[in-house]
Amino acid sequence: MTVPRLQLFVGGRWEEGAGAPITSHNPWDWSEIGTLRGASEQDGERAIAHAEAAQPAWGAALPTERAAVLRRIGDGIEANADRISALQTMDTGKTRAETRALALSAAGTFRYFAALAETAEDAITPRRGPATTFSVHEPIGVTAAITPWNSPIASDAQKVAPALAAGNAVLLKPASWAPLTALLLAEIANEAGLPAGLLSVLPGAGREIGSLLVNHPAIGRVAFTGGTSTGRQLAAQAAAKLMPVSLELGGKSPVAVFADADMDRAIAGVLFGIFSSSGQSCIAGSRLFVQAKIYEAFRDRLVVATKKLVVGDPNAPATRVGPLIHPDHHADVTAHLERARADGGRVLCGGPGDGRLFYPTIVEGLDNNAALCREEVFGPILSLLPFDDEADLIAKGNDNEYGLAAGIWTRDFDRAWRVAGAWQAGTIWINTYKQFSASTPFGADGASGQGREKGREGLRVWQRQKGIYADLTGATIPWGVA
Ligand code: NAD
Repeated sequence: MTVPRLQLFVGGRWEEGAGAPITSHNPWDWSEIGTLRGASEQDGERAIAHAEAAQPAWGAALPTERAAVLRRIGDGIEANADRISALQTMDTGKTRAETRALALSAAGTFRYFAALAETAEDAITPRRGPATTFSVHEPIGVTAAITPWNSPIASDAQKVAPALAAGNAVLLKPASWAPLTALLLAEIANEAGLPAGLLSVLPGAGREIGSLLVNHPAIGRVAFTGGTSTGRQLAAQAAAKLMPVSLELGGKSPVAVFADADMDRAIAGVLFGIFSSSGQSCIAGSRLFVQAKIYEAFRDRLVVATKKLVVGDPNAPATRVGPLIHPDHHADVTAHLERARADGGRVLCGGPGDGRLFYPTIVEGLDNNAALCREEVFGPILSLLPFDDEADLIAKGNDNEYGLAAGIWTRDFDRAWRVAGAWQAGTIWINTYKQFSASTPFGADGASGQGREKGREGLRVWQRQKGIYADLTGATIPWGVA
């Protein structure tokens, strides 16, 4: 496994940062992977200057020329999928199956936005006077992407690919707990022939380099994925300079199992929904509502299945649940479980392991308003609650400030469709969970964020729309002097 250069990628070159050192550890055995110097504000300023110099030519390039580069980046990601997967597993502790899937999805994202770049159309709009009217889209200019540690290559691609496709330069700031995959993306983009300066990768402290990107007058848009409290700060800063910002934040996603559901599929889907990525997933299905008449039978089968999940080395093919990213995060997840116990929750299985592993945990007996059912844990803890009927389920599911995702297991499609319409969530899965497509919008509302990524509109949010009126008729203008 070759680790990418442990440096910043600025203006097409690898450089030593001048910010605080960042040491990457392998969450599985806490071995040290390496240390790099993070980006300082001066490094950020330099990257912005390179981006400003490179963007006009890229923005003026034919869409088909930009698409060709993006396709090559997609090909490079696919060709390096095993390397990306090994690196990301080493940096995040996610299983190899998960990190490989993330790498391939990132390749697909670049190809999707390549296709959109060269097929998106401007419009001649219906005239309401002598002038011919146009709606055209232009790049914003220099933009930024700030990403969290849990799914680096996929969340990076979701922002970098449309930003570049739309004709922008983009500065990417990955999270300090997992900065390596973003550096590998820089290496791949560089080898694919992306002109220097269009993508700089700046690991570093959120308060320092992250804040610089948000507040800098040259940055015209920021796409952020991370925690809700950080997102709120960013939104306030963006508002001060009237800059568009998209926010993909935390979640507390409800999942419903109706009595008529296919039980085997529902159990597998519920387990995957909450325990994959060791629960460190914004869309984790962490509040499970089971219809009262099957509650006990379903619960007992779910607990048996949960105890069978292989927990351990994320590189071992049989492993389903790897370690948590960091001992500090392990302590946070443990504190959530202790609070749940203090609130009267009964722990049916799981619990903290050795400071790295956290065993898949199910808690019952709590009210939907208990802290465990209200707050994002970002770990492998599922709260189990009964519901009576559809109305009760809809009310309980919506009784939460988040609005990211939800799952519904039933054979009654009319009912599934009604609940899907009534639940406030950016993504709803019916008889499935955690499925993604680059062509389907992803995003959220409420405390889970604002704006959407992916899909056709996922390109447009990285552009400015302009109306143009051109009078080609030579008609007399009434104010003319005879
Ligand atoms: P975080 O908010 O701590 O950090 C996210 C990124 O923001 C990091 O790169 C960080 O360095 C940077 N940052 C921190 N403070 C900043 C500041 N003041 N200004 C600018 N940048 C700053 O989140 P995290 O702990 O890395 O990730 C976990 C969170 O991300 C969870 O809440 C999870 O739900 C959320 N998440 C959401 C989605 C989604 O699509 N909705 C996806 C993945 C993760």
